[in-house]
Amino acid sequence: MKKYYLSTALPYVNDAPHLGFALEIIQADVIARYHRILGEDVFFLTGTDENSLKNVRAARGEGIPVKKLVDRNAKKFYELKKALNLSFDDFIRTTEKRHIKGAQKLWLACQKDIYKKKYRGLYCVGCEEFYKESELVNGLCPEHKAKPELVEEENYFFHLSKYQNQLKKIIEQDKIKIIPKTRKNEVLSFINQGLEDICVSRLTKRAGGWGIDVPGDPSQKIWVWFDALSNYITALGYGENNKKFQEWWQKNKHKLHIIGKGILRFHAIYWPAMLLSAKLALPKTIFVHGYLTSGGQKMSKSLGNVIDPFELVKKYGTDAVRYFLLREIPPTEDGDFTYEKFKERYNSDLAKGLGNLVARIITLAKKVKIGRKKAKIEIQKLVDKTWKDQNLLLGKFKFNEALMAIWNLISFCDKYLEKEHPWQKSKKQLIIISNLLFVLKNIAKLLQPFLPQTSEKILEQIKKRKKEILFPRL
Ligand SMILES: [Zn+2]
Repeated sequence: MKKYYLSTALPYVNDAPHLGFALEIIQADVIARYHRILGEDVFFLTGTDENSLKNVRAARGEGIPVKKLVDRNAKKFYELKKALNLSFDDFIRTTEKRHIKGAQKLWLACQKDIYKKKYRGLYCVGCEEFYKESELVNGLCPEHKAKPELVEEENYFFHLSKYQNQLKKIIEQDKIKIIPKTRKNEVLSFINQGLEDICVSRLTKRAGGWGIDVPGDPSQKIWVWFDALSNYITALGYGENNKKFQEWWQKNKHKLHIIGKGILRFHAIYWPAMLLSAKLALPKTIFVHGYLTSGGQKMSKSLGNVIDPFELVKKYGTDAVRYFLLREIPPTEDGDFTYEKFKERYNSDLAKGLGNLVARIITLAKKVKIGRKKAKIEIQKLVDKTWKDQNLLLGKFKFNEALMAIWNLISFCDKYLEKEHPWQKSKKQLIIISNLLFVLKNIAKLLQPFLPQTSEKILEQIKKRKKEILFPRL
């Protein structure tokens, strides 16, 4: 059986989840569900990155122990499972034993490329990364627009520069395929500027005692990115279950990381270099999505424009949220959330479009007994083409276009209804209704990876010939 492994990035747990992470995990969920439908053995991983300095500071701010803060917030991330109807198979927390064991094992496997040196650099706690002066914008971190801190200590370094040429080839030749291509070019241009060795530890004291010990040197903690990236294999048993690790990572050709554009460098350069150093297999594909803005601006507490996915789901339902993010947000570019846009999509595509069509067809289907009638050839062809398109488009992570293809079927049915008037008694009435039911059944099945509950409800309504409102008008 073909194995398919995919992961989201691990979000920091210094705060509750916002809609931006919901976008990423919903995209991953569609891919996971789709590959399960294809009959593949899927392992879908997500979790939480808990050893960050940000957590230490957030906990200090609240006056509570760090452990309490990460437990509380990790729980909220886990609760997305129910709220967004996610199908992940494992949820790894980087404070778990299995992870700590694996992260330390990976450190030791990279030992020959790790050395100690005195260092002075500018550190952004938001990014958990050192910046060169030249990378700052007006002296500020380009990601957080915050002034990095001057850090001076003796740390461990990873010999990244050694892997420059090897990494360049791997990316150029798509041995790790980066989607979209613009992101691949971004990685190559970063490599071409010359890779410098990276700092992979910090003093335990500066880390507030929080994090994973460097093996054999408890005065240092493993840099949070080195630690967090290893989750992709520690969850597969790298630390303790070799059989699982071999099957899902080493021998598996289908390994996908889904990430946001801000952490591309970590996944496309640092992570592969660590794996090369440890002589482990590389991931196959990295899919990079854009950012979700809110009213045209980055979501931030200070702007008061953070969208809470739980609230949105409570108000409009899980599938409405899934639909909006998958349909409205271009998969590889930035997209914007506003309540106006959300309601517009909801009313036009879900309430009026899909919901209305289901109601009309089910009403018709109730009136007549349907025999097993073969669909018209053109209709069959149209449906077949939509399935083919879905396969093609999801292979390229074009969630929005795959949904557009399904909505083409919906508008086909609308037109067909208007043209054929199946509510009027005629010789053709039965066959028309039967054709409509055939397309509707396919629409429901095509929707499965995107809107699993809605898909199920439609199939149920077809089976029982019982109409129920799917998406009440707002
Ligand atoms: Zn930053």
